[in-house]
Amino acid sequence: MVIGGGGREHALVWKLRQSARVEKIWCAPGNGGIADEAECVAIEAGDVAGLVAFAEKMRPDLTVVGPELPLVNGIADAFAERGWKIVAPRRQAAQLEGSKIFSKEFLLRQRIPTARMYGAFDSAAEAYAALAGVKWPLVLKADGLCAGKGVVVAKDEEEAREFIARSMEQGELGVGGRRVLLEEGLDGEELSFIILTDGERYAPLVPTRDHKRVFEGNQGPNTGGMGAYSSDELLPERLRERILGEIVEPTLKGLASEGIPYQGFLYVGLMLTKDGPRVLEFNCRLGDPEAQAIVARMDFDLAEVLKDVADARLEAGKLKWAAGASVCVVLASGGYPGRFETGKRIEGLVTGVRNEAGVGGRTGVCVFHAGTKRLADGSVVTTGGRVLGVTAAGESLAGALESAYKAAGRIRFEGMHYRKDIGMASSRSAVGD
Ligand code: AMP
Repeated sequence: MVIGGGGREHALVWKLRQSARVEKIWCAPGNGGIADEAECVAIEAGDVAGLVAFAEKMRPDLTVVGPELPLVNGIADAFAERGWKIVAPRRQAAQLEGSKIFSKEFLLRQRIPTARMYGAFDSAAEAYAALAGVKWPLVLKADGLCAGKGVVVAKDEEEAREFIARSMEQGELGVGGRRVLLEEGLDGEELSFIILTDGERYAPLVPTRDHKRVFEGNQGPNTGGMGAYSSDELLPERLRERILGEIVEPTLKGLASEGIPYQGFLYVGLMLTKDGPRVLEFNCRLGDPEAQAIVARMDFDLAEVLKDVADARLEAGKLKWAAGASVCVVLASGGYPGRFETGKRIEGLVTGVRNEAGVGGRTGVCVFHAGTKRLADGSVVTTGGRVLGVTAAGESLAGALESAYKAAGRIRFEGMHYRKDIGMASSRSAVGD
């Protein structure tokens, strides 16, 4: 069973289905593309009680969780209590993502390199007062889950005050915004480093970089992610060693020493500063759209490896990766990340595009669905802001980009927009991108 219904989950389902060990996949709730490859079940990802009731009936041999909400809601604890296999961290460990303050305090306790903290506040008055003693730019973070809207890089006091007012006084971000963390703004390139761990052993996945801003050249508001790419060149060997030694291993050891064993995917968001890598954030899951780019380079049986993780016997050597590069270009609804309409019919989704040679082969393209629904007449319509993730692998980044953009050019729906500069040099800079 795969939990979630976005592009990341479509990529997971697609890869899991290639395993000879997999007989049947359920996906809750799934989407219009996942419905082609798995049985979609109408249970929301955050509904732990509903998922438990379903698993009680169907008894999947293994459950894999995509998004963060079920983790924070305790799905791993509920499954573990019943002795069911699941790849997901427990509720307490998921606080690394669920509470930015918890995660920052953990990093500081364990002396893991991260941005300096000015303070964590639950009163707006105290947060305003603290602004007198900070340097600019300042980063303000809502403590809880805020669907990607909880962080602001403020260049001056006015911007900082505005965020504090919206988050702490007007309650615009919901309960997640009641407490706010202030930290130093860091400068450098960002890198996502994701590992898979069974609590003791771990295996790094291929490095990726995502593009959060809606427009080319890293302009416009932040989104859930407009694209991502993976290439070995993103991460020189020495830097990789440094990240493993200074960040990943101390994190896993630190968690274990504090009695918070961690199992599943751990996403470390890093800023590569001139003084070395610094942790910006943890996510307790694969990123979306990073997952699509990562899956595109997987040259191993994902079902077998995930089963190993659930059985606490991960063998890092089993994770083999296609050389070269991969890319995922997100096709979004008109107006996203602001208001957008749904129900637009998607044209050009012929099977030939969807599974052209199969990613994993060298030049394959795969269109992973995110916000889509299949109607009774077989047509596919939009249901969300991020609609499709056109994903390609290639021997080089240029080759992967060419395949992905060629396939993207054949797809149409009213209002569709996408960035034309995913993975390109011009889009690889700037804080907050
Ligand atoms: P987070 O959810 O904590 O990763 O924050 C979202 C985005 O805000 C990151 O991907 C960065 O682009 C930016 N960001 C977060 N923390 C910092 C920081 N200390 N300095 C500069 N940018 C940051």
